[in-house]
Amino acid sequence: MNDIELLHEAARLAVEYVAGTDGRPATPDAAALAGLDAFDEPLPDGPTDPSDALRLLSEVADPATMVSTGPNYYGFVNGATFPVALGAAFLVNAWDQNAALPVMSPAAAKLHDVARGWLLDVLRLPGHADVGFVTGATVANASCMAAARDELLERAGWDAKSDGLFGAPPITVVVGENTHSTVRKSLGLIGLGSDRVVKVLTDDQGRIDHTELPTHLSGPVLVCAQAGEVNTGAFDPFDEIADWLAATTDNGWLHVDGAFGLWALADPSRTHLVAGLHRADSWATDGHKWLNVTYDCGIAIVAREGALRRTFSSVAGYLPPERGFEAMHHTPQSSQRARQVEVWAVLRTLGRSGVAELVQRASDGAQLIAEQLRGADFDVLNDVVINQVLLRYGSAATTEALIAEIQRDGRIWCGATQWRGETAMRVSVSSWKTTLDDAARAADVIVECARRLTPHE
Ligand SMILES: *Cc1c(COP(=O)(O)O)cnc(C)c1O
Repeated sequence: MNDIELLHEAARLAVEYVAGTDGRPATPDAAALAGLDAFDEPLPDGPTDPSDALRLLSEVADPATMVSTGPNYYGFVNGATFPVALGAAFLVNAWDQNAALPVMSPAAAKLHDVARGWLLDVLRLPGHADVGFVTGATVANASCMAAARDELLERAGWDAKSDGLFGAPPITVVVGENTHSTVRKSLGLIGLGSDRVVKVLTDDQGRIDHTELPTHLSGPVLVCAQAGEVNTGAFDPFDEIADWLAATTDNGWLHVDGAFGLWALADPSRTHLVAGLHRADSWATDGHKWLNVTYDCGIAIVAREGALRRTFSSVAGYLPPERGFEAMHHTPQSSQRARQVEVWAVLRTLGRSGVAELVQRASDGAQLIAEQLRGADFDVLNDVVINQVLLRYGSAATTEALIAEIQRDGRIWCGATQWRGETAMRVSVSSWKTTLDDAARAADVIVECARRLTPHE
């Protein structure tokens, strides 16, 4: 096989995989998982045939994949991949562009500008905001909150980038009790401390109770709210939080973690959920979850012009002054792949109404699953406002047994979570491929698995 034949072969295997995902169970079987041991070979002493590496991937890894890019995967909030996103990924990887600077990739810089504008348009966020593409919502949260940290401290007369945080005026960080675990990780990463936070009580959906927001704060305040609680999909009361922040301090920053929920902004039928969301100073979201692009694609959006640049610009003698978007001066990465190209391709293909329909369809699927399961003695623990359904079947222990049975059955995949200290089951409709029929079938599978549990469970 020559180099070109090798690539044809890889493309053929990739396309065959995608073509087979519809009818394929979401979970690999035990034999496929055991087969992964075939990778336990010593490092070859010298060169081997590259087609051999591809063959091993196809024969051994492919059967052991979780089929999250099909219609039957409801785990975490993982999302699938649109064919146009995968196709764009093929091309971007073939081009091997370094999207760090326009001088390295004029095409990446151009597509960044267009994708930035379209994203802000479809999400109805301020058109002047800066956008950085990063590895995921964790890093998008960290990037936005690092920009917030530096802005808040600059206003307090401190240059955090140069002088660090030792001796800096303290920033009060306010989060909801239900803030995502990776927000705490991000706070640790940027030196604000994962536990050095004021935690605000939340209601039965995990929303910040705005009457519980702290009073008598002084100095800089960073609030991290969320659009889309990871279990319930609930939205914090952004208007009330923004009003409280404005009344509390003249040096505040409101950040919103909207890893998947931010996309509700694209759906005109959900404006009640997102009231006040545009008043934030920054927003983090993912492309690889609900927008269904490939990993890894997170998006940091910062309304204050120049704030991302202040935090992330780096100076080196060989970096030319440039026109155009300099990604390496707006993100934690220096060299980076052109993640914006897949985002551009999906937005170009779906258009404004297509993104709204994507949100609508998944949310309708979640509604349908909730209704079917409610009729089969399940407790639906959340108001199903977007794509998340939180469930219990009998006790927490029975729910655990049910989840194990669903995963053993393998046709669909969904997982466990902790809700108010006890195990619950979480169903997330995040794949563009999941139709209402698929959702109805998933509910049938869940009920079938529940009926198989022995009574004492
Ligand atoms: C998934 C998720 C994150 C983390 O996103 P990654 O892309 O995995 O880094 C943060 N917040 C919420 C609400 C999420 O659902």
